[in-house]
Amino acid sequence: MRAIYPGSFDPITNGHIDIIIRASKLFDELRIAVGGNILKNSVFSIDERVELIEASLRSQDVDISKIIVEKFDSLLIDYAKKVNADVIIRGLRAVSDYEYELQMALANKEMNENIETIFLVSSGKYSYLSSSLVKEIAYFEGDLDNFVPDVVKKNLRNKFQ
Ligand code: ADP
Repeated sequence: MRAIYPGSFDPITNGHIDIIIRASKLFDELRIAVGGNILKNSVFSIDERVELIEASLRSQDVDISKIIVEKFDSLLIDYAKKVNADVIIRGLRAVSDYEYELQMALANKEMNENIETIFLVSSGKYSYLSSSLVKEIAYFEGDLDNFVPDVVKKNLRNKFQ
C-alpha cells in the first residue's frame, strides 16, 4: 500500500521524524508531501523545507529506500489521487489536534471515498512538539538539541540571525 504524509514541515522536527519512521514500517511506499499551508506564514521556502527533510532523514540513519520527499501545490486529495495513494497519514498529538484533523479527514473522505486517513498517535516524548514551538525557541536562541536534527538547528540559526 502507498501512503502519503502531508504537512507544512516548517521545519521538520523530531516529532515528524518519529511519525515518518513508524509509518515507513507499515507501508510499501511513503511519500512525504510538503505543502504550503495557505493559512500559515512560513519561515522556510517550500524547496528549503524539502531539502531539510531529505538532509534530516539522511542524518538520522532512516531507511530511505521506501521514502519519497516531494512538494505539492494543489488540494491534498487531488494530489493523493494523482500519486495513487491509498492512505493519508496524519499525526495526532493532543485533543487540540483532533477537531481540525477530524474535519479534514471527513472532508477528504467526502471528496474521495477510496482514500483513507490513518492517524498515528504521537510518541509521548514528542506530544508537545510543534514546528511553531521550535521557531519560537530558535527566535529567542534557546536550546533546540532535543527538538530537531542538527541540520535544522543550523538552518534555523541562520534564519533568525
Ligand atoms: P500542517 O500545517 O499540515 O498541520 P505540520 O507540519 O504542522 O503541517 O504537521 C504535519 C503532520 O504532522 C500533522 O498531522 C501533525 O499533527 C503532525 N505532527 C506535527 N508535529 C508532531 C509531533 N510532534 N508528533 C506527532 N505528529 C506531529
